[in-house]
Amino acid sequence: MPPLGESGSLQAIVKDYIESNNVMVFSKSTCPFCKKVKNLFDSFQIKYLAVELDQMENGADIQATLKEMTGQRTVPNVFINKTHIGGCDDTLQLHKDGKLHEAVAANAEKPEETYDYDLIVIGGGSGGLAASKAAAAFNKKVAVFDFVKPTPSGTTWGLGGTCVNVGCIPKKLMHQAALLGEAVNDSMKYGWAVEETYKHNWNILRDAVQDHIGSLNFAYRVQLREKKITYVNAYAKFVGPHTIEAVNKKGKVTTHTSAQFLLAPGLRPNYLNCPGAKEYCITSDDLFALQHCPGKTLLVGASYISLECAGFLKAFGLDVTVMVRSILLRGFDRQMADLIGSYMESHGIRFIQESQVKKVEQLESGEPGRLLVTYGNNAGEESSEEFNTVVLAIGRQAMTDDLNLGAVGVKTNSKNGKIICDEKEGSSVPYIHAVGDVVDGKPELTPVAIQAGILLARRLFSDGSILCDYENVPTTVFTPLEYGCIGLSEEKATELYGIDDLEVYHTNYVPLEFAVAQRRANECYVKLICIKSLNEKVVGFHYAGPNAGEVTQGYAVAMRLGATKHDFDNTIGIHPTCSEVFTTLQTTKSSGMNVAAAGC
Ligand code: FAD
Ligand code: NDP
Repeated sequence: MPPLGESGSLQAIVKDYIESNNVMVFSKSTCPFCKKVKNLFDSFQIKYLAVELDQMENGADIQATLKEMTGQRTVPNVFINKTHIGGCDDTLQLHKDGKLHEAVAANAEKPEETYDYDLIVIGGGSGGLAASKAAAAFNKKVAVFDFVKPTPSGTTWGLGGTCVNVGCIPKKLMHQAALLGEAVNDSMKYGWAVEETYKHNWNILRDAVQDHIGSLNFAYRVQLREKKITYVNAYAKFVGPHTIEAVNKKGKVTTHTSAQFLLAPGLRPNYLNCPGAKEYCITSDDLFALQHCPGKTLLVGASYISLECAGFLKAFGLDVTVMVRSILLRGFDRQMADLIGSYMESHGIRFIQESQVKKVEQLESGEPGRLLVTYGNNAGEESSEEFNTVVLAIGRQAMTDDLNLGAVGVKTNSKNGKIICDEKEGSSVPYIHAVGDVVDGKPELTPVAIQAGILLARRLFSDGSILCDYENVPTTVFTPLEYGCIGLSEEKATELYGIDDLEVYHTNYVPLEFAVAQRRANECYVKLICIKSLNEKVVGFHYAGPNAGEVTQGYAVAMRLGATKHDFDNTIGIHPTCSEVFTTLQTTKSSGMNVAAAGC
């Protein structure tokens, strides 16, 4: 294929579209005739690629090039099997003449195109790496393009994506540091003589965390090399069907072709749209590598990231405030979310409710500096307060605009930029797939990205047929009181089954390890949400207590197998553990009986 970006490249791009797609429609998203043609193909399940010229940067130029090549300026401009068919009327006529299917089928004879790779993966994070390794195991020629654009504060990192560098791994290590601090405190009750003045050193922790991440980055590179996967540290975008252009750190541009593509570019944190946000605030992308202890910290946002970070920073002895726009942990069970919030509050984390930041000003630079945050509440009152660090944890967005998906016709959700996929992780273009956080409407979790990536590779390159099951995905929020859950919240179960069909079994309990340490009783709590008409099938599992991830994981298998309350009751517990509480649950919420913990 001729190099793109040079003169004559538009003709090359148009030719590439026509040659790479059995049925090619140059279309405009608002044109009713284009819709008619696409509906015709859809009605016969004829696969086609439609590029919407009105949504492409160079759409007008492509239209002019089509005029030069075919004499036709209008859309739709349809090609079947590399032959110019014409517009809407011509295509409908072909169908009326009974020749449409013949024209489409003629292409079955076409020899296979040759490409540089069998699979190009854009994004070397959880999903992309898992899929690339699985594809390479079937002797496929695979390349992974991964590049991290620095944050506004300049932080950047290596291969492995969000989870490894700025997500699960550093977060869990910092959470572990927090738990150890609590354990030091508890240990005195167990007879350990500990200096009363013990305190946390941020720099030691940060270095330990970053060293571990460095070793993981290295291990990933080695794995790719061992599996003969080409790793390109460059930012990629589509420049034509089957063709991407990649720009590396030095600005060097290369082009590459592939038969199949996997998009796994993940998400990046949102910034507030207020003065000072990009200049002075940081996000979780910066926090874990921060060169100094953050000091008095404001976390904006009230979901997983904000609450988890608030939890460990407080445990390090810092003054921590969380600013909540509406509610904590949207989408989770309300009772459990409130429990997590009140535990955090009772352990010294301050919550500013129903408020939003209006501006952030720098009072003094330094490590940490001093920032003045002005915010307003729902009643219209304005306040200001000084903090050393402001962490924005207000959601994350897909950077799909950078991929130039319009050039290949991949459809995204216009509200969030995420890629719209079918149940096979297929995008609107037959040879382009997506996994991980970038897929619209799916959980943003590492194991989900990995599972989807591996299963996709097996289906594409071997005889795999198993689809990724996005139901009953277990998750844990690593807050000071950890919270694990599977399945439905009480609110969702009520909506789906009706309140009269629910039976909720619940109890408070005191973990043995809390009892001796004389931690407050009645903070740990579990509940099972069961459906009466389904033989008390368990549709919601909720656990607040120590080691929530470890406890919840095993029960996820039971939930997949459709466990009922009876199955939980007939399972013998392991004593003394927290997890065993689920095998002895007797009190229903509807009974109104007191479930305050009596002891272990
Ligand atoms: P990512 O891992 O984000 O990888 C995408 C990669 O693609 C990145 O390296 C990106 O720079 C690169 N890229 C993007 N565009 C391009 C391009 N055009 N060209 C080249 N490269 C590109 N999940 C859990 O399951 N458990 C947890 O405890 C947990 N904790 C988290 C804590 C935090 C603070 C955060 C932010 C997330 C956490 N997550 C957790 C979520 C988890 O990290 C993500 O679900 C997971 O990383 C998604 O993987 P992915 O493959 O979709 O994308
Ligand atoms: P979420 O999208 O889950 O939550 C965003 C939070 O920010 C909400 O509380 C939201 O409030 C608030 N918010 C949004 N916009 C604004 C604004 N303009 N001003 C103030 N507050 C605002 O994002 P997270 O970043 O916390 O997490 C992203 C994903 O990463 C999670 O969904 C999860 O899948 C994954 N993750 C998983 C973890 C785990 O497994 N332990 C840990 C961390 C992340 P509102 O409710 O009002 O919209």
